[in-house]
This record gives sequence, C-alpha cells and structure tokens, in this order.
Amino acid sequence: MILLFKKRTLGFMGAGIFLLCLSIGTFNVASHPNMNKWKQEKVVITMVKTSHKAVALTFDDGPDPEKTPAVLDSLRKYNAHASFFVVGNRVEKQPQILQKMAAEGHEIANHSYSHSYSAFSSNKPEIFKEEIDKTALLIEKITSQKPVLFRPPGGYLSDNLVNLIKNEHLTIAYWTWQQDSKDWKVGTSGTAIANHIIKNIQPGQIILLHDGASNGLETARAVDILLDKLTQEGYQFVTMSELIKLGIME
Ligand code: ZN
Repeated sequence: MILLFKKRTLGFMGAGIFLLCLSIGTFNVASHPNMNKWKQEKVVITMVKTSHKAVALTFDDGPDPEKTPAVLDSLRKYNAHASFFVVGNRVEKQPQILQKMAAEGHEIANHSYSHSYSAFSSNKPEIFKEEIDKTALLIEKITSQKPVLFRPPGGYLSDNLVNLIKNEHLTIAYWTWQQDSKDWKVGTSGTAIANHIIKNIQPGQIILLHDGASNGLETARAVDILLDKLTQEGYQFVTMSELIKLGIME
C-alpha cells in the first residue's frame, strides 16, 4: 500500500492522479505549483547537469536484513558507491547493516522515522521535525555520518515540509523521472529492472530503487546486471552527494 501510493504520486502527468494527490493533501514535485521555485532554490533536486559520465543509484525503505546485504554485495563487486535512504524504525532493528553501508563507502540518507503517510499528510511541522530529526540522530549515532539528504515517504511535498527542510539546511532528494523502474513491484525481474535503467541512462541521473521492498532480491540482481553493462560503458556510480558536487542541481 505504501509503495502503491508512491507509484501514484509519481504518475505526475495524469490529471486524475493530480486530483488524487490533491485529495489526500499532497503534491508531487512535478505538479506542485512551487516546483520550479524549489528547484531554482536548490531545495528539491531531480538530477544533476554534469559533463561527467556519472550517475547515482539510490535505495529506499531499508535496511532489510535479507535484501540490503544482497544489494551491498552487488555494489561491492563493482566498487560502486550508492545512497541509501533509510527508515528510522528499521535502522533501530538493523544497526549493524548501517555500519556496514558506511564502512563500504555508501552515503546514508534520511527517509523519515515511520514511513507513515498519515504522519506526513497531517502536514504538521512538528511531526515532520520529529520524523526527520529522530532518524538523523540514529544515523549519526550509528555511522558518524550526518545526513544531508531527505527523501519524503511517497514523495510527499508541502510548503510546511519545504520550509522545515530549508531551516534544517537539508536538500529534498527526488529522483529522475525516467529512472523509476518500479523495481518494488512483486514479480518484476532483475533483468527487466536493469533493462529499464540501461535503456534510459544519461549522465547526472538519480536512479530510484528499493532495497527495503519485498522484491528487493530482484533489485539486487538488477544492480549486478546494470553495473556489469554500464561500468563497461564508462559510467561511474557515485553517491548522490558526490554527484551533486560534479555539476549543477536540476
Ligand atoms: Zn519509501
């Protein structure tokens, strides 16, 4: 259900979906009236304009005791670095996976504490603050990394959320529209996920994947396939913060 909602918020071109988003009190970045303003202010990012042949793999909803280690294994084989958007209440259960991520050179980023849509659709700044700060503190305590990127559950956006993000000097890490392979859908094969990404690849993209969804082992397979192909083509796989340093946020 959680992920189904995400899928809906990403279908940003449809008027019906736009109305759905309105009706539940949220917007996605593409349809929010302030989208361009926030992108110009560099508070929301969907890709990076760069002359480097580099992209960022981003993984949401972990850490998961089975799927996240499989993803880490795939990344390690190709010496690729990625950004993991972790959920605080899962971090509490798997601190050793977080330590491993950090030790292997990955970036840990914030994906809220509860991943609860009702918490976010309340649109209350104090709830946003608690969700974000609690997870940031856990990440810092476990890995010594201070997270600088926040990805709202389901892509939720509002003026209240953006104002808080600005106050906390964070960036809202969206993703590149063409690089949502829907890897989380149960039954999607690793090959299909990899093919989607390979077909659409362009330098500077932020690629959306899920190590914490039930299809996560297929996501790990996809990572193997796409890294094999794209590293041969000269692509570098860097963390999202590293990618931002290689160009201009868009
Ligand atoms: Zn999520």
